[in-house]
Amino acid sequence: MNKEKITLIGAGLAGPLMATYLANRGYSVDIFERRSDMRKSELSAGRSINLALSARGIHALKDVEIYDKIELIAIPMKGRMIHDLDGTTQLQPYGQGENEVIYSVSRAQLNMDLMTLAENTGLVDIHFEHKLDFADLDNNELTFGDKRVFFDKVLGCDGSSSALRKAIHKKSIAEYFKKPLGHGYKELTIPPSDSGDFRIEKFALHIWPRGEFMLIALPNMDGSFTCTLFFPMTGPTSFETVKNENEIMSLFQNHFPDAFELMPTLCEDFQNNPTGNLATVYCNPWHYKDKAVLLGDAAHAVVPFFGQGMNASFQDCSVLNNLIGKYSGDWDKIFENFSTFHVKNGHAIAEMAIENYIEMRDSVNDPNYKKRRQLEFDLEQKFPDRFIPRYSMVSFHQIPYSEVYNRGEIQLELMNKFLTGEITESNLHTTILNKLHPIT
Ligand SMILES: Cc1cc2nc3c(=O)[nH]c(=O)nc-3n(C[C@H](O)[C@H](O)[C@H](O)COP(=O)(O)OP(=O)(O)OC[C@H]3O[C@@H](n4cnc5c(N)ncnc54)[C@H](O)[C@@H]3O)c2cc1C
Repeated sequence: MNKEKITLIGAGLAGPLMATYLANRGYSVDIFERRSDMRKSELSAGRSINLALSARGIHALKDVEIYDKIELIAIPMKGRMIHDLDGTTQLQPYGQGENEVIYSVSRAQLNMDLMTLAENTGLVDIHFEHKLDFADLDNNELTFGDKRVFFDKVLGCDGSSSALRKAIHKKSIAEYFKKPLGHGYKELTIPPSDSGDFRIEKFALHIWPRGEFMLIALPNMDGSFTCTLFFPMTGPTSFETVKNENEIMSLFQNHFPDAFELMPTLCEDFQNNPTGNLATVYCNPWHYKDKAVLLGDAAHAVVPFFGQGMNASFQDCSVLNNLIGKYSGDWDKIFENFSTFHVKNGHAIAEMAIENYIEMRDSVNDPNYKKRRQLEFDLEQKFPDRFIPRYSMVSFHQIPYSEVYNRGEIQLELMNKFLTGEITESNLHTTILNKLHPIT
């Protein structure tokens, strides 16, 4: 029996991965993508923007058998390298053991490899320069400029400003809101040294935490670092007030003096690169009947401070793929189950990502935070099946985000009570056994 054709909007990170999963099950897929084919443009070879890849994303990439290739362009980052104002640095490991690392990968290379992987199945066609303007979900019709396309099932992987989400929201009783963070970002560069080497530690994610704002840097294969300044959009020290060369140089000389010396094109980059805005998208449900469903940022765009947006989007693809296997052909059940069980995970990672901004820009230097971090590692060693630091649950495990969130709250309360002397060591151990059931 011929399987129905699936229509998918967006050939960003999630779209081609989901298309590959579908093709591997025998479905043919038409992807419609707003942009032109980045594999054919000069730009793809240009400035490198990178992303942190971790266990959830890796799991999906292994599923579709592309991880071996991606691993070759992935730089392991063992921990956060904290840069203090006086230039001293300290490495705070992400986890325990050499496998508990996250990886810096080039967004463009990953995206291009995923598109090629999808096309190589022989069942996926990507139609570039097709921007979805409007979706008529009752009549199964999509409008791209003056072209109309009929669909049977449509999957929205069209990112945080999803056009398909608008249609679902309009048709159903979907709750939807976009919550701005109030902070934005600017991408900058630390080039390689004259001899092509990394100018700062290669195997780390660098952070310059400065309270209300921060700078981070992730390594690229060519010896450079992509830096991102996360900064208030408005206010006395903000993108509104830092614009001209003097203002930019004074911000960096005063707050990031060691980074400033490594950024010869700082002012140019700052003035030429766009200021990105950050927001969280909340939407529930993610589907409309057995016709349409949202994945990735279209369903749950999160702020980037847990390095999980792409990882969560890739996990969406593997979760949906499993449901397609489980309820073969019953799309009502597939979409309904995806929404019902997974929306809460989207909401949980959204909250944790916002909380992590405060941790990264402020708490990492707080002695209490450091004590708690050490305690987390100690307890993990004593109770490996019950107590795992929240960062590790998110980045090195597949535990659903909502469960991570709930366990994280219990763990935090226990640790705080222990550190303030409210509970003793033996009480702490008994409480862990009572309150935290083994992780399955
Ligand atoms: C500064 C920053 C840093 C980040 N760092 C990390 C990180 O370290 N780790 C991590 O896991 N995540 C990170 N993320 C998040 C990550 O980028 C996203 O979660 C991820 O790209 C989501 O994938 P997606 O396929 O859902 O959306 P996208 O990758 O945005 O793809 C959407 C695609 O749909 C296309 N499209 C949009 N509208 C239409 C339309 N109307 N018609 C047709 N096509 C359309 C777009 O052109 C695009 O190709 C970061 C995000 C930001 C902003």
